This record gives sequence, structure tokens and C-alpha cells, in this order.
Amino acid sequence: MDHTKTKIVSTIGPASEAEDKIRELVKAGVSIFRLNTSHDKEEVHKKRIETIRKVSAELKTTVGVLVDLQGPKIRVGNLKEPKQLENGQIVKLKPSIEEEEGFIPVDYFGIVEDVAKGDRILLDDGKLELRVVSTHGTYLTAEVVHGGLLKKRKGLNIPGSTASLSAVTERDVHFIKFAVENNADYVALSFVRERDDILKAKQYIKDFGGNIPVVAKIEKPQAVKNLNAIITAADAVMVARGDLGIELSIEEVPIVQKQIVKEANAQRKGVIVATQMLESMIEQPLPTRAEASDVANAIIDGADAVMLSGETAMGAYPVEAVSMMTTIAGSLEKSKCLHLNHYVHSHEVYDLDSQAICSAIIQMLDTVEVSAIVAFTKTGYTARMLSKAKPSVPIIAFTHDQTVCNRLNLFWDVYPRVISEKKMKATDLLAKVDEILIKEKSLNAGDKVLITGGMSFISSKIGRTNFIKLHQIGATSTIYAKGE
Ligand code: PGA
Ligand code: MN
Repeated sequence: MDHTKTKIVSTIGPASEAEDKIRELVKAGVSIFRLNTSHDKEEVHKKRIETIRKVSAELKTTVGVLVDLQGPKIRVGNLKEPKQLENGQIVKLKPSIEEEEGFIPVDYFGIVEDVAKGDRILLDDGKLELRVVSTHGTYLTAEVVHGGLLKKRKGLNIPGSTASLSAVTERDVHFIKFAVENNADYVALSFVRERDDILKAKQYIKDFGGNIPVVAKIEKPQAVKNLNAIITAADAVMVARGDLGIELSIEEVPIVQKQIVKEANAQRKGVIVATQMLESMIEQPLPTRAEASDVANAIIDGADAVMLSGETAMGAYPVEAVSMMTTIAGSLEKSKCLHLNHYVHSHEVYDLDSQAICSAIIQMLDTVEVSAIVAFTKTGYTARMLSKAKPSVPIIAFTHDQTVCNRLNLFWDVYPRVISEKKMKATDLLAKVDEILIKEKSLNAGDKVLITGGMSFISSKIGRTNFIKLHQIGATSTIYAKGE
């Protein structure tokens, strides 16, 4: 299987849902599959999850499943006919699903209360733009700034306040239940505005009996304003450049991308850069130079993962798009462009014992020659802390828990494995690690590794990550053989 340090998230859709396609995608380097619940019914998504789980078990690997919630997405209602909007024209917008004579219907019932004179309203991915002139109780008037043909059910973005919109819609609640019932590894929340939106989603997950980490999709100006608090409340973030590029101006996207990635890394949270990364590969077998550079630059910025949307969901070259990402990421990772062994003390309050151990490991990498870091991790915490320091060697994470294993697939250069044996003596455990790593040809006998962790059977009460051991692969069994 082709694996890069950078993780690849691939959106499943009609072009990629077949079992053999999913198999090819995993082999080409996908580590997380995204199900976009803005499209398709529950049964379709359920089938996709089953196929993903089946294929990954068959290939003896693990991949994560991310259920992406639509969030409070606003759409134009059912226009009877497409409407040609001319620059300078004054139009009336009214909250309603069906069209009433003289009005453009909008499915957001709070629109008139929430917007104010001068606010921008964007239609059809920002292709058309309106500016609010006045509000009149039941409807509002707006001037067309950029005209065009408006079709029914097109998306509508209001970069200003959308206070009356609930952060988690009825459809989202339905899919949160679905995510819990189907053991999704991540839930992503769209159009997050503030920290409370994340807390609400987490509460629903909890109410349905789940404990799924939440990815905050940053795609509204309010989210950029409240970025630090949102990242603190969330488990990971997504730079959702599609809607971000509509709600902010397009030239702000690269700057905000850097800001989001930096803050997520400082807070040791996962970060995905998404949308239009290899967009031209929806139709062409090769990307543009600009797209290749975009993937590489997102990795240089410090993203854990890069994401494909339409490219794998409905494009003509889904497997080629993943392979291309693998090639671009792999080539960059071999170059000297990345800032490695870069431990930054987090400004967030993490447990200091773990921080001390992780920073010591990163320092040791400059002096001892090791092939990997082996991390025993119960919740994924130790592996995540290490990954965020961008070590120059891979992190092989051992955990008892299949779900923890699936989730670790989001993090940069972490290779998670399930180890079923519990409560082993430390020496037996080392022998087991040697056996697994040699057998699967990850490492060779004689290779040195740094082992760390905080699993219950070796941990004391001090810190969550509480030991470092310099270990030579194969040495444990030799000692045993000599009877020492
Ligand atoms: P979407 O989110 O594809 O669900 O809209 C990503 C984005 O907006 O970039
Ligand atoms: Mn979006």
C-alpha cells in the first residue's frame, strides 16, 4: 500500500462507492473516507461504510470514516423557472420553499430578521451576488451586484449574521444518530460559527450514546473570528475552502488557511486542508501545476491531511487523483522543504509530564539514530502529541482499541496498529512488538526505536505519557534465549 506521511481524505460518491474502487483507493493511499451527508440517503451511506470496513479488514489495514454533516446550509427554494438576474436590478427575497409571484424563495426562515442593509448575499457558490437594500418584515429587497442565471435549490451564503439558524439542523441530528449507530470515527460539522456549535453537536453525540470526535469546518467569517475557542472545543478542524472562498473574499483564503493550520497545530488538534485541491482532475487525468503546488504547500503549512471532494466523489479519475496526491506528498516529504523535529510547547494546558516526554523524544532524534517511534496509546493521545512535533521518523502506534486505531489515521506520519493482548509484562510486550514489526516488514532486526507510552499496564499515575525506552528490534528475544 502506498502511504505517505501526509494523510489523504477522500470523499466517497457515485464514482468511488463500488467495492473494487474503494479497494483501489485504499491501495492508492486513502486513510480517511468522507461521507458527505448533503447528498444521498442514509441507506446509501450505510452501504458505503460497510464496504469500507469490509475492504480495510480484507487488506489488513485500518481506515477512518468521517461523516460530514451538512449543517445550516441555506438554499434557494423551488423556482418555477430559472431566473436571469441583471446587474443593478432590485429583487425581493422571501422565506419560503415554493415560489410566490415577484419573490425569490429562500429556505431560511430567519433571513429577514438576521440581515441588515449593506449585507452581502451570495448565490450558487458565489457566482451571483446581491447586496441588501432594505428589510420589510416578511421580505427583503436587494440589489444585484453580479448577475447571472439563478436556478432552483442553489446554495445561498450569508457571510454576515445567521443568528436564527440552528447550528445542528434536524437533518444533522438524524445523521449524528446514524454516525453513532454505524461507529463513524469522526463527525464533521459545517458552517460552525462559535464554540457552542461544537458543544451542541457533542451533546447530541453523547445523547445518542456515542463518543465521536468532532471536526469543525471553518467556512464562515465568524468562525475565523472565534477560531481559537472553536479549535479548543473541537477535536480537529477542516479548512473548508469552498464555502470559505464564498463567504470571505477569495484572496483571504490562503492567509486564513495558514492561520487555521498554525493554530490547530499549536493546540495539537488534527487539521485537514480541503476543496479544489486537484479540481481539474474531475475531468482530466493530470492536475494543473498550480494544483500540484497547492497540495505541496498545504503540507508545508503543516496540514495533517489533504482532502479530495468532487475529484473522488464524482470525477472521471478518482483513483488517479489519490495516486497523484500520494505522489505529490511523497515527493515533497523526501525533499528538504518540511520543518521537522519541531517541538512547540503548546500554549494550551496539556499535561506537563507528557509534554516533557514528547519534547525529550524529539530532542533525542537529533542524536540517536532510530528508525521509528513506537507509541503505546490507549486513547491516541500520546501518538497525537508526538505527531504534532513533526518527528523525522514515523510513529508506530499500538492500541487495544480498533476505533482509536481508525481515528489515528488522521494524524501526520502515525501508523496505527491494534494489539489485542492486554496486561502483558513489559518484556513480553517488547517481544510482541518486535514480532509484529519484523513480520510485517515495517522494521528490521537490529533497528533502533524509541518506545514511549502511557498504557495502563506500564503506566503509573504520573502523567498520561510516562516513559521512554531506547530499544533495539529483536534484542528482547535474544536476551530471552540467553536466559537473562
Ligand atoms: P463541503 O465543505 O464540501 O461540504 O461544502 C467543504 C468546503 O466548503 O470547502
Ligand atoms: Mn462547505
